[in-house]
Amino acid sequence: MHDHNILGSCGAFLRSVASHWSGGGRLHDDAAQAHELWQTSMVSALLEGVYEGDVTYAELAKHGDFGLGTFNDLDGEMIAIDGTFFQLTSEGTAHVVDPMQKTPFAVMTFFTPEVTRRLEQPVTRSELYARLDDLAPSRNLFYAIRIDGRFSRVLTRTVPRQAKPYKPLTEVVQTQPTFEFTNVSGIIAGFRSPDYMQGISVAGYHLHFITGDRMGGGHVLDLTIEDATLAVDHSSGLHVELPETGAFLSAGLNKAGTSDAIKKAEG
Ligand SMILES: [Zn+2]
Repeated sequence: MHDHNILGSCGAFLRSVASHWSGGGRLHDDAAQAHELWQTSMVSALLEGVYEGDVTYAELAKHGDFGLGTFNDLDGEMIAIDGTFFQLTSEGTAHVVDPMQKTPFAVMTFFTPEVTRRLEQPVTRSELYARLDDLAPSRNLFYAIRIDGRFSRVLTRTVPRQAKPYKPLTEVVQTQPTFEFTNVSGIIAGFRSPDYMQGISVAGYHLHFITGDRMGGGHVLDLTIEDATLAVDHSSGLHVELPETGAFLSAGLNKAGTSDAIKKAEG
């Protein structure tokens, strides 16, 4: 994967310069941050109904310009692209997030794509995953994935806002609103996580979508791409920030059946 010729070194140099550029017009001083994911809480906590966190979106923005997650009270899906956070609501709308909003779960990175691939032919979801697998060869590393394209169909869901006492995620998704977008342009942001991370992360692909007009989107359940550009960035580091307060402290996070529950909840 690593090219040691002059061009390769030059590319690596450019990337390390780019990796210091954290967006928002400031530099960050940790080169490793560019290839690290920063996550608050864990997926198995969402499964247990831990829908309140203390992390603001202002804080999240310090840890990446790209990512996905949700909101306190499970109030919709989040997608972050180019440093802008969007809230995809269960009414099917989308708007820019207020920095003071909080999240119980999010995954962020500073996206610096290493490989891009143009898709000129229509592909289904399983075909897309096969193409992405070619660009993300190690099952044991994390990869951030961005897809800019035109979609003949994207089926999404968006979790609806919950009130206390919170129901577990597997119950919430039984009545989740789904949305079908046809013949739209848009952007997908997400991650492929190693299978051994199931419970902390969603093992495999976890992708969120927003339309080109930034009016709607959600957690991707299915899609057909018309044409698109795929961009992939590997991560060999994961920082997990665990909540120190609230329901997280007593939640059962190592239950039998977690993997099946995540597959059911995250599609
Ligand atoms: Zn999701």
